[in-house]
Amino acid sequence: MKLIVVTGWVISGLGKGITAASIGRLMKSCWYSLTMMKLDPYLQIDAGTMSPFEHGETFVTKDWFETDLDLWHYERFIDEELTRNSSVTTGQIYLSVIQKEREWKFLGETVQVIPHVTNKVKDKIREASEWKDITIIEVWWTVWDIEWPHFLEALRQFRGELGRENVLFVHVVPVLRVSTSGEMKTKALQHSVSKLRELWIHANVLVCRTDARLTPEIKKKIAMFSDLDENRIIENWDQKSIYSVPLNFLEQGLHNIITQRFFDKTVECNLDDRKSKVEWLLNPVSVVNIALAGKYTKLDDSYISVVEALKHAWASHQTKINIHWLNTEQCEDKNREVFVQNFIKEKDIRGILVPGWFGNRWIEGMINVANYARVNKIPYLGLCLWLQIATISFARNVCWLPKANSTEFDKNTLDPVIDFLEDQKNITKKWGTMRLGNYEAYLKNSSIVSKLYKSDFVVERHRHRYEVNPKYHDILQNNGLFISGSSKDWTLAEFVEISDHPFYVATQAHPEFKSTLQKPHPLFCGFVKASL
Ligand code: GLN
Repeated sequence: MKLIVVTGWVISGLGKGITAASIGRLMKSCWYSLTMMKLDPYLQIDAGTMSPFEHGETFVTKDWFETDLDLWHYERFIDEELTRNSSVTTGQIYLSVIQKEREWKFLGETVQVIPHVTNKVKDKIREASEWKDITIIEVWWTVWDIEWPHFLEALRQFRGELGRENVLFVHVVPVLRVSTSGEMKTKALQHSVSKLRELWIHANVLVCRTDARLTPEIKKKIAMFSDLDENRIIENWDQKSIYSVPLNFLEQGLHNIITQRFFDKTVECNLDDRKSKVEWLLNPVSVVNIALAGKYTKLDDSYISVVEALKHAWASHQTKINIHWLNTEQCEDKNREVFVQNFIKEKDIRGILVPGWFGNRWIEGMINVANYARVNKIPYLGLCLWLQIATISFARNVCWLPKANSTEFDKNTLDPVIDFLEDQKNITKKWGTMRLGNYEAYLKNSSIVSKLYKSDFVVERHRHRYEVNPKYHDILQNNGLFISGSSKDWTLAEFVEISDHPFYVATQAHPEFKSTLQKPHPLFCGFVKASL
């Protein structure tokens, strides 16, 4: 078992997650098997109840676990699907220790942070690391916050158990710049390294976050004060794209620092395929304007997986995608038609992409946007809620069901085209009705989606509660809404599309969760192509 632990200090938002994921990419490209983990200090059991305004978008693993976006970054960089084992929170650890105590399993011992909590942390790491050459662990937040000594203590103990040569601590720190003189300052970095040493942890590699390259003098100074060889000071200056970070680390030989320590050898690491994708991302040959219609338009992180999935399609089509936020609140009133029309004309919008969410605000505005895209033949890719919105809009405007709605927004609607399935209606546990994680879909032969996926069977991740009501499948289909993919028994509509339209496709799933730079998602590629 080999562990790489990524910590951070001074400020948050340094890109610890991207650093950890980039190291993962390097090790993967050196042909080692690996897994990645995130240790989170919060008391929640999972990220499902966290507001996207505060915490960014919620991610779902294939095995139905709701986590924060770091796991998504890991998956995109290492091109591998992770499981719930990769997300550990203080809440999970304490819950299991306390449950065990209540079950009398400690037989009267005093239950304490050391060893009971720390042992549980170690058990979780062992569980996740099984059969892997390397496990990369990111510890959330900054060293010396009140919330995480139990994690660092567990990792320190682990170093003793596994042997020093099998654990590598990578510490991510900023080199701050004084804005008036423009000088780079290393004092905060020095303090951070010594604070870590107070916990008996000596950083083996420093990743320095900067806005520019370090001068040789500063690099020397950092090496001296942190008691490290100069080649262990890795520079991570601002990159135009996060996908350049592994390339930058490769050039500085970070992969060999790791393989030397763990396996006593240097290894060939090839990232050429990524290099060309990053070049296409940075040097596009064409441009297309896309509207991203949404509710959380203030915090970019709320839709980051959708934005990044668009970038993956951008890299493979060498087409820059300008994203314009279309706030659906403004599409609600009487002048909405004019508003949407003007927006589309002014910005030269060629496609509308709409990510999912929960709650009933601005729904009427969304229904108008879905209708506008359908009538005016503007490429439309609807994700999750937007399959439901497309269905409501179709039922109202084409099937002559003017009161059609989802019971999520109007419990007493006359035509519940979107509703809970019968078996969901008896579930009373909060969030118990959620459909989470991987689900299969069978695609109809002649559909756009089967052509895009090049298959008649797909598995995508889900995070929602409501479904297209099976009682309305016939009336919708008879009027031209093609249910192009569904569950094996045809009860769950997984994809809908319209045939006399350049691209009107919606899915109940979250395909953005599976998109990577190397494997851009076929639905996003199809959408970008249609918009072009
Ligand atoms: N609110 C809808 C549902 O629960 C859609 C959720 C989503 O878009 N993720 O079914």
